[in-house]
Amino acid sequence: MSMIVVLKPDVSPEAKERVCERIRELGLSPHLSISNGDFGAVIGAIGEGGAAVQDQLEQLEGVEAVMAILKPYKLASREFHAEDSVFEVRGVRIGGPHVTIIAGPCAIESRELVFEVGRRVRAAGATILRGGAYKPRTSPYDFQGLGVEGLKILREAGDELDMPIVTEVVDPRNVEEAAEFADILQVGARNMQNNNLLLEVGRTRRPVFLKRGLAAPVRELLMSAEYIMSQGNHQVILCERGIRTFETATRFTLDVSAVPVIQQDSHLPVFVDPSHAAGKRDYVAAMARAGIAAGAAGIIVEVHSCPEKALCDGPQALLPIEFTRLMQQIRQIAAAIGRTVVEPSARPSSSRG
Ligand code: PEP
Ligand code: MN
Repeated sequence: MSMIVVLKPDVSPEAKERVCERIRELGLSPHLSISNGDFGAVIGAIGEGGAAVQDQLEQLEGVEAVMAILKPYKLASREFHAEDSVFEVRGVRIGGPHVTIIAGPCAIESRELVFEVGRRVRAAGATILRGGAYKPRTSPYDFQGLGVEGLKILREAGDELDMPIVTEVVDPRNVEEAAEFADILQVGARNMQNNNLLLEVGRTRRPVFLKRGLAAPVRELLMSAEYIMSQGNHQVILCERGIRTFETATRFTLDVSAVPVIQQDSHLPVFVDPSHAAGKRDYVAAMARAGIAAGAAGIIVEVHSCPEKALCDGPQALLPIEFTRLMQQIRQIAAAIGRTVVEPSARPSSSRG
């Protein structure tokens, strides 16, 4: 049984360290609850401990109370961390009252495409740039991505436009390389239960954007987050991207209710991906609006300047002009529910117009 150790408000750093030390001696691993980079007044003691361990911890100096965590996920649960987690990636806030928009092409096809789409989505209000370098395609004969060459292009575009970048990793062997270039590592729907990949991204110190598997219950998504967090990386962003149902009008069915369901049990930010859920451009904006209205921490949306020539996911890509219109609607919806959209800084640091 894992436990939550609640510390007294005036606990000294030394006493806190002694509590962690004792947790280790008892064969459990201590995890400090992190919010905005500060240590909170709670320590998660993860592992197998019985009532005797609970009694012993309760008697330590600086300890207010020790409670059992009953949920199968521990670090990801609200029991461990009551407030919403808020992260900052290169100055861009994610979580809590903020609404953060990630946009860009499905795949990094070329330098021109990434810079063109990057400029357009930034001008419309996106703060994080997406692009895939390793594409998990259904067919082995389809475009598989540019690999490390793609990562370099995305990094350059991110630097030029002053936008953090997110990219998907599909193989534990590429994680270290991708973490050198990317600010956020994405684990895609098809890899949500690839435990070796989860552990590997958990060992990096990059925030992880974890997408829900196409046929995974929310509970299993949270267990996957737990794998990442068990390695000490607590910066996990969850994403609802549509699940498989009997409906064929859309590529997947966006489970909007996953947003409040997750928020009830977890402190981690929840995003919505309307692009992969819908699979068709005509439905993407409506799904994005629904996600924001449901309280999502943001959306991740695919945009392409010439979707009919896209090498991947063209039919679901918004045109830049459609994305601009969607951004305006998102600002209004966010305002209506007391949230604010995180806007790009006034000018890119090295703008060349
Ligand atoms: C993607 O983001 O391009 C992607 C492949 O998403 P998913 O894993 O949700 O299918
Ligand atoms: Mn895609």
